[in-house]
Amino acid sequence: YGHPNLSKLLFVCTVSGGGGLLAYSDSSPFRADTAFGDDIKRKKVVVLGTGWAGTSFLKSLKDPNYDVQIVSPRNYFAFTPLLPSVTNGTVEARSIVEPIRNIVRKKKFDVQFKEAECYKIDTQNKKVYCRSSQENSLGGVEEFAVDYDYLVIAMGARANTFNTPGVVEHAHFLKEIEDAQRIRRSVIDCFERASLPTMSEEERKRILHFVVVGGGPTGVEFAAELHDFVIEDLAKLYPTLKDHVKITLLEAGDHILNMFDKRITAFAEDKFQRDGIDVKTGSMVTKVTETEICTKERATGQSVSIPYGMVVWSTGIGTRPVIMDFMKQIGQGGQTNRRVLATDEWLRVEACDSIYALGDCATINQRRVMEDISAIFSKADKNNTGSLKVDDFKEVINDICERYPQVAIYLKKKQLKNFVHLLKNSHGEAELDIEKFKSALSEVDSQTKNLPATAQVAAQQGAYLADCFNRMTLCDKYPEGPLRFRGTGRHRFHPFRYKHFGQFAPLGGEQTAAQLPGDWVSIGQSTQWLWYSVYASKLVSWRTRILVISDWGRRFIFGRDSSRI
Ligand code: FAD
Repeated sequence: YGHPNLSKLLFVCTVSGGGGLLAYSDSSPFRADTAFGDDIKRKKVVVLGTGWAGTSFLKSLKDPNYDVQIVSPRNYFAFTPLLPSVTNGTVEARSIVEPIRNIVRKKKFDVQFKEAECYKIDTQNKKVYCRSSQENSLGGVEEFAVDYDYLVIAMGARANTFNTPGVVEHAHFLKEIEDAQRIRRSVIDCFERASLPTMSEEERKRILHFVVVGGGPTGVEFAAELHDFVIEDLAKLYPTLKDHVKITLLEAGDHILNMFDKRITAFAEDKFQRDGIDVKTGSMVTKVTETEICTKERATGQSVSIPYGMVVWSTGIGTRPVIMDFMKQIGQGGQTNRRVLATDEWLRVEACDSIYALGDCATINQRRVMEDISAIFSKADKNNTGSLKVDDFKEVINDICERYPQVAIYLKKKQLKNFVHLLKNSHGEAELDIEKFKSALSEVDSQTKNLPATAQVAAQQGAYLADCFNRMTLCDKYPEGPLRFRGTGRHRFHPFRYKHFGQFAPLGGEQTAAQLPGDWVSIGQSTQWLWYSVYASKLVSWRTRILVISDWGRRFIFGRDSSRI
């Protein structure tokens, strides 16, 4: 792996104000390379975002020969898997965040952080335009531009409302720390308001009706956390109200947790039914007003109005406006996916130079799979016979698997038998019909879905990209990636490969379901303890680890805090 002394990179460092923008200057861009004693110019790497992808990149970047600038409106990293626990006070908000400057401080080289949001990316001049998150004394915001040699876009995504009227105005999202804190206050608000003597019974019932829209992992976990909060804490504090409380989970599809194994889905639906959480599937929200949610029921086609006190909207993720603008700027040639930035398998944004995108704002472009597979065949089928010898076929399969891990997983899991079958039944015993194989592969292609938008993917992509940056100079000289399909020679690096370590679905009442690699399913209290230990170990620092574990202990001993602060 990379040796920093080999990375004597030419580096140009300028931070300049653009036309009419406020300019600022950073510490000296030139430094002595201590190992060689000569001056080097350091390449400027700008990272947008301090979420899972950006922070993982920063933590794994070891080569000191880069000048790193981080720009993000949040000066902290948030451990999102514990956000639902913040909504009811099981865990305090500050326990799951790590100031980004704590991470920066531990780097052995200079890293600059700017609390600002990027609002425009200028690929022509290699600049990003940013505005400060805070107002200045004149009520305006500071704006500035940052030059880059390499740009790492890790801006994540925003909540998706599917343009449903009233959602932005009346619903809560559960995406950021502030959202979780707002939800916590709002739940207590509902209970205090419902306690007022002026409330009618009908009004009391409405206020204590909590609706969660979206039966994915976040919606389900939030509904479960809310139920625990009500049963374990609020029922004791508001004994006269406990029978008025209702929790409803609305899901447009046929089942909740439909990305999980069927056993987990069935267990979750049964458990929620036992707990009195009303799960309505096939229910599409069409409008949200101040007091009602309007739905269209798929089974009956009827429109239904549901009075509510608080609604949490958790139906997936959408594109940030700055990413949309950037995609428009790149144009049709590069970006056909209209939701997120399309990258190649090395996480380089399609049709851009020196720009990388990772995490929720990006996806690896699957359209290229068939084009590349065709190129592999053309190369292997030298005599243009339309068939391949078995040994060549094996090489082709290895090439495909090396380059497309998702295809490889699919081949191993589901399709390998079919290919062997094709192999035996095609031209003679030892040859394969290329066209038949390609059409089978296109089926594989259509079924190999994009990587999920999870912290696991984002963190692995951040670590992978940092590793590439650490070995950039070395691999320029000695490429170690797979052979190029189009053209000769090798790629510098191996493509990104995602390793799936499984997924948890906490269901409340100290019960968790887990789907682990190899389709191994585990459900129950012991899985809850596995969840505690995995999440405690994954927290980003010892400080947050100790805070979260003590929050869990505090909750066991004293219960959750219901003060409205
Ligand atoms: P984020 O982590 O969202 O980070 C984006 C960063 O970009 C932020 O720092 C943001 O401030 C910054 N930013 C935004 N706009 C700009 C701008 N204009 N300029 C500069 N910076 C900007 N995944 C799992 O694997 N397991 C789980 O259990 C799990 N639970 C979850 C629970 C909840 C409630 C939520 C909301 C998500 C959960 N996820 C989970 C998903 C996971 O959080 C995301 O997939 C992950 O955060 C994506 O990482 P990211 O770095 O792409 O984006």
